[in-house]
Amino acid sequence: TTAPEKHEFQAEVKQVLDIVIHSLYTDKEIFIRELVSNASDALEKLRHLQLTEKTIHDDGLTLEVNLTTDDTANTITVQDFGIGMTRDDLVENLGTIAHSGTKAFLNAVKESGGANESLIGQFGVGFYSVFMCAEEVKVYTRSWHSEGTGWCWTSDGSGSYTIEEAEGVRRGTKIVITLKEDAKDFAADHRVKSILERYSAYIEFPINLNGEKVNNQQAIWLQDKSEITEDGYKEFYKYQAKAYDEPLDWMHFQADAPLDIHALLYIPGANPEMPGFGRIEPGVALHCRKILIDPEPKKLLPDWLRFVKGVVDSADLPLNISRESMQDSALLNKIGNVITKRFLKHLEGIAKKDADKYQKFWDDFGIFIKEGATSDYTYREQTSSLLRFESSMFEAGKLTSLADYLDRAKEEQKEIYYLIGPSRKALESGPYLEAFKARGIEVLFCYEPIDEFLMTNLREFKEKKLTAADSNDIELEDTAVEGEALPEDQVTALCDWLKTTLGETRVKTVAVGKRLVDSPIAAMNADAMMSASMRKIMRSMGR
Ligand code: ADP
Ligand code: MG
Repeated sequence: TTAPEKHEFQAEVKQVLDIVIHSLYTDKEIFIRELVSNASDALEKLRHLQLTEKTIHDDGLTLEVNLTTDDTANTITVQDFGIGMTRDDLVENLGTIAHSGTKAFLNAVKESGGANESLIGQFGVGFYSVFMCAEEVKVYTRSWHSEGTGWCWTSDGSGSYTIEEAEGVRRGTKIVITLKEDAKDFAADHRVKSILERYSAYIEFPINLNGEKVNNQQAIWLQDKSEITEDGYKEFYKYQAKAYDEPLDWMHFQADAPLDIHALLYIPGANPEMPGFGRIEPGVALHCRKILIDPEPKKLLPDWLRFVKGVVDSADLPLNISRESMQDSALLNKIGNVITKRFLKHLEGIAKKDADKYQKFWDDFGIFIKEGATSDYTYREQTSSLLRFESSMFEAGKLTSLADYLDRAKEEQKEIYYLIGPSRKALESGPYLEAFKARGIEVLFCYEPIDEFLMTNLREFKEKKLTAADSNDIELEDTAVEGEALPEDQVTALCDWLKTTLGETRVKTVAVGKRLVDSPIAAMNADAMMSASMRKIMRSMGR
């Protein structure tokens, strides 16, 4: 064996460690969840390798996680017989922040300018969370590759770590943590047991604490609905979505034919996609007979359903398929299609049965439905039925669907009218609404940037055209005009004067109309392909 080699942590890691070590974060116990989840990931990866590789070091080992506590030495040890790490893996995985969770944490720290504590739980700092409680950490590890040796990685979390060769290490990873003075309670069996029961109950592999198995939950998504309690569903959500909140709602769907599909999908308690942090990854994991095939399959559900969390399991999937070839599988498309339709139907059900819940859903996730209705033809009929808007018929805050709009409209009304603007106040005080109001025609109000694209891409609903109420080619019945009209020659003179004064680049035509009621004049949009706000967007992009 050689002498221990000293390495500096990458600068970003130092930053993370500094925050983690000095934080007053109260839920320090999450480090156990992080380590057990890493152990389970490593076992999962090994299970996959067993399907494709001929030689695996120490192949006879049971796929399990063993935790031991020692309240005399003040240590806690987490051991798995997973894939293990090579020396290079150690440097890459435990010396840099190559993985996204910790990066998101650092970004959030930068953005928030100080509120670091609360962010630890929100974003997760993975392995590094161990340094909230550890005085020293030793990682003994041996990779699954047949060649190579064992290694020992050691650090107190303050800037550097050492790596040295180690004798007699079994395949997998054993992490020995010497606890800090104020974290000694994690060396107590009962304390660790209650943490494991909370966070790790559904882990697929046996988790033993001091020789006793602590997890014996079934794969809940395969169980009969009648066997699962409300709390059971909620607990599984917290585990699966790595969430601390309660789900807003869930759908448990099971079918045998024509495809075997078991799906348990959750709507989170709040939108996890925060502005400024980019798009979140898909949150519905793909399993085949309980075996995890892909934790974030990109081609299973449409991208606009990326806020949904949960599990899909199909016994029809070929088990020994690689994650890459999985992506193109037609079968995967078929399964995704069945589940997506079901899920959208489920949302329709909520809208019908529980208006308050649907309102909450719409407030948080309506933007994703709009994204779907704008970009995805396949489910347009269903997504457009789920859309909600404020309307000139109701007070602020009350929403309507397109279907209800049509129910209220007069038989002869051929179009659905909407107005786009920054706020309700702006739309109500503008000149466009009055013509519709005077004729008792309802106008939908749109305030979000995506609405423009939504309405122009959607084009129609139930064969009624969606029409911006500021376009110039709308035909409305005449209203009775009160007071005296200007003589025709003066009208012509006024129109000519306006046209020359404003110039050709600003107006195409100036004409008399019978649309307005109180306002003397309004700018109408002459370009059916491009609305006023779209022009504004194009101009800001320099086109
Ligand atoms: P994440 O799990 O989100 O990738 P972590 O900080 O928890 O981030 O872990 C960093 C990396 O270290 C993992 O991606 C994995 O490659 C490696 N790692 C951590 N624990 C283990 C383990 N028990 N066995 C093998 N590799 C591990
Ligand atoms: Mg992890």
